[in-house]
Amino acid sequence: MSFFPSLLRSYQGEPGANTEPRTADTPVTTTIPPFYQSFIDNPLVNYAALFPDGTSHPLGTLPPSLSIGIVGLGTTGCFGAQQLLLSGASVTAYELAPEPGGRLKSLVAADGTSVYELGGMRFPPVEALMYMLAEEHGYGFIPGFPDPGVYPTLIVNTKKGEKVVWDEPGKPPGRIRVINDAFAAFEAEGLTKDGRQALCSFRQMKEWLRSPDIDTRELAVPEWKKHIATFHPCTFETFIRRVFGPAHEWDVPGGESLSESDISLFGDVGFGSGGFKHLFDRSGLYIMKILLNSLEENQSTFAKRSPEGTLSPAPVQDLVRAQWGPATEAGLVSHFNTEVIDITFLKGQKKFKLTLSTTSPGPTTTATTTTTTALHDVVILTTSLRTPLMRRLASPSFSHSNNLKLFSPSVCHAILNLEVIASTKLFNLIPNSTLTAPRGYPRNILTDSVPGQVYTLDYGSATTLVALEEYKWVVGSVEIQDRTAAELHAKVLDTLVEVTKDTPYADLPGRFGTVNGGAEKDLIKIDWQLEPDFQGAFVLPRLGQDEMVDDLVYDFLKLKKKKRKKKGNVGEEEEKWSLPVFNVSDMTAHESGWVEGGLRGMVNVVTAIVDRFGGLKQPAAAPVNLMTGPVYGYGEAWDVVEMEDAEGWEEGDGQGDWTRGCTVA
Ligand SMILES: Cc1cc2nc3c(=O)[nH]c(=O)nc-3n(C[C@H](O)[C@H](O)[C@H](O)COP(=O)(O)OP(=O)(O)OC[C@H]3O[C@@H](n4cnc5c(N)ncnc54)[C@H](O)[C@@H]3O)c2cc1C
Repeated sequence: MSFFPSLLRSYQGEPGANTEPRTADTPVTTTIPPFYQSFIDNPLVNYAALFPDGTSHPLGTLPPSLSIGIVGLGTTGCFGAQQLLLSGASVTAYELAPEPGGRLKSLVAADGTSVYELGGMRFPPVEALMYMLAEEHGYGFIPGFPDPGVYPTLIVNTKKGEKVVWDEPGKPPGRIRVINDAFAAFEAEGLTKDGRQALCSFRQMKEWLRSPDIDTRELAVPEWKKHIATFHPCTFETFIRRVFGPAHEWDVPGGESLSESDISLFGDVGFGSGGFKHLFDRSGLYIMKILLNSLEENQSTFAKRSPEGTLSPAPVQDLVRAQWGPATEAGLVSHFNTEVIDITFLKGQKKFKLTLSTTSPGPTTTATTTTTTALHDVVILTTSLRTPLMRRLASPSFSHSNNLKLFSPSVCHAILNLEVIASTKLFNLIPNSTLTAPRGYPRNILTDSVPGQVYTLDYGSATTLVALEEYKWVVGSVEIQDRTAAELHAKVLDTLVEVTKDTPYADLPGRFGTVNGGAEKDLIKIDWQLEPDFQGAFVLPRLGQDEMVDDLVYDFLKLKKKKRKKKGNVGEEEEKWSLPVFNVSDMTAHESGWVEGGLRGMVNVVTAIVDRFGGLKQPAAAPVNLMTGPVYGYGEAWDVVEMEDAEGWEEGDGQGDWTRGCTVA
């Protein structure tokens, strides 16, 4: 995702507007190096330092008899499979799609080169584990994702009848400039009251969080606590009003307060990925954390590295395919076209039973479905929170024959209630004439009419490229989910005619014709909420839901929980909580909507498994030992419960009992 993509670029000293064509046929040599920053919710762990020699070195050792089932082969599932195999366990993965990828879903267009990135598409260098994986597999990142402001952008405010071109990165025109500068000043200077520092700046906190020294990183904790005490709970809109609005409570960052019409302009047009109004009711702290965690800095395009070291744009799904290859060579057994439809825990056998539904490949008319089962000692689910499987496992009515729930009540509550947002993207394959137009010609359009924004993406061929004609979230997405790609595209063309009228760019709509004369195959629309296997794009908590995120993030610590002697039936419910079943993806991280959230979450889970069933290489640095629970507490105090081990999982038991491998009945 991306909300403020242009804002922080100005701090990176990037060169001025770049209108040079950059396509698959004109590879670039500049790459962007990753840097490590702990995210604010977990300042203790340095995830990059856990892999000093790269991700192909194990985090510890596990018995080969330990059989682990992974549900889902997106980037998180593939990463977990690789790490657990390296440590020595036996791993089997189930993926309902025919190939690895998940929400890193790339389609190659009819021209054979251009790519439609249906899910993730811009990757900041703070995604250090992702960058490490890419580097190891022969990929890299091209700086300067073609966002508004990075390339010349026409901004149209129909309410005021204004049409301006933004052609200098980091320096938007008109009132958008004032909004941009206000956020930038907040980031750089924090908040002052009558000239005295009231809240520390994000820039200072980021510097601390980038330190290799744990004590320095921890300096950010009390400062973020002050932010929480000041702004929790508070919607994003309330945050904007309190900090920047006419009735601002502190010295207004940037020196000029935002008027009601500025706030409405920010809601309608934004200064990055289009209007922000559909995010106004979200948790303000959650949105601002995206800035604090540097996730909006230097977002880059995924690329393939040639033997000569040059980079050409590449489908990001190739990264997941590349992750899966070596994992398979290391012994991963994968079952594609296989949906896990149920999971129960067999108390007597101390194993999880997975019920699998496998569809034979081929046309749906001749496809057959078979149902089988498989047994595993440990299960890791990496699916979206909204899949039928997750809903079933979290449902209050779900229980297996032993009446054991797989997850704690708070985790089930979070799975069922956390907001997984809708998101729509519409792409079109167009001639590359916006790239070859004169310098300064707008490649992107931001308007307060529908569609809100149009980008021309530069990962096309020499003659064609992909335009992102619509990208909407939340209600904005739901409003257009019933329109066909052709209907929406027609609306885009109407809007382009309207907004470029009486400008030097009146020929722009002509540049957005489909390459194949309106052929349906050039237009691709995805509504993530309607995809049956995902039913949403990523988590964006509603106000008051931050603590549910905590419940999901720290669930992996359950294997570490102190055990208590079982007395009669007392504690029977607690006993159920320590089964080695995990749910991990970016949707169970504080950084949902970012690949790195899922990867760091998987490291947490892998260290918990290795710690419990084998031995960690760096125990003192492992998340399972460094983390003890939420650092902050965004809502009511975290309910720390001492849990009893499930029957059959007593300390010291089981190491010799693991059944090798997985049995597919
Ligand atoms: C619209 C959109 C924009 C995004 N933008 C960005 C971005 O710009 N930058 C960024 O870093 N990230 C972005 N992301 C987030 C990024 O795509 C995700 O963080 C990442 O792909 C998640 O990977 P994962 O492996 O955790 O989960 P997933 O990719 O969701 O993988 C889960 C897998 O489980 C499978 N599955 C589901 N149910 C079952 C079942 N019952 N049995 C078997 N298999 C099952 C699914 O088919 C899927 O392959 C975006 C996501 C979306 C949707």
